Amino acid sequence: MMCGITGTPGTGKSSVAAELERRGHRVIHISDTIGDFVTGDDPLRDTRVIDDERWAAAFPHTDGVVEGHLAHLLPCDRIVVLRCRPDLLRSRLLRRGYPEAKCAENAEAEALDVILTETVERYPDDAILELDTTILSIEECACRIEQFMQGELPPAYGGIDWSHYLIPQP
Ligand code: ADP
Ligand code: MN
Repeated sequence: MMCGITGTPGTGKSSVAAELERRGHRVIHISDTIGDFVTGDDPLRDTRVIDDERWAAAFPHTDGVVEGHLAHLLPCDRIVVLRCRPDLLRSRLLRRGYPEAKCAENAEAEALDVILTETVERYPDDAILELDTTILSIEECACRIEQFMQGELPPAYGGIDWSHYLIPQP
């Protein structure tokens, strides 16, 4: 079983992956796998640009948890989308020292369900679990992901609407 954990930066992917690793699961961090596929830098967004199609095609199917905001581009058996209320996500990222513009951009992407939408486009409904880290602790998320991987927790998504966190444009 290859289970992906995706989500906007700051939703808690690395934290829940570390908890799953403590519980004995094999964890692959996507950031460790992109080295050969970097095509350049995006200084405006302070990120590396990768050839994600070539990266996804070369990614070996593995038994374990694959963590990172590109996990939903891989052919995982199941995929978990972590969510976080946009205003809280913004403060998590500010605390991390991200520039204001990057925090706002990610909070807006979260309010617009960008990662969930990309996931729903690629996966069948019965392979997707959406978890709200606004109300679930890291440990609770890890428990649910374990249950989901074992087929004890049914798939579910679509219960979140954060569109009212979008800042109205003048
Ligand atoms: P990501 O890997 O998705 O960017 P991180 O795991 O680095 O996110 O978490 C970002 C911040 O949010 C960290 O400060 C972390 O402690 C906090 N955090 C993560 N998950 C939760 C949670 N379920 N509840 C409360 N805080 C969380
Ligand atoms: Mn992370």
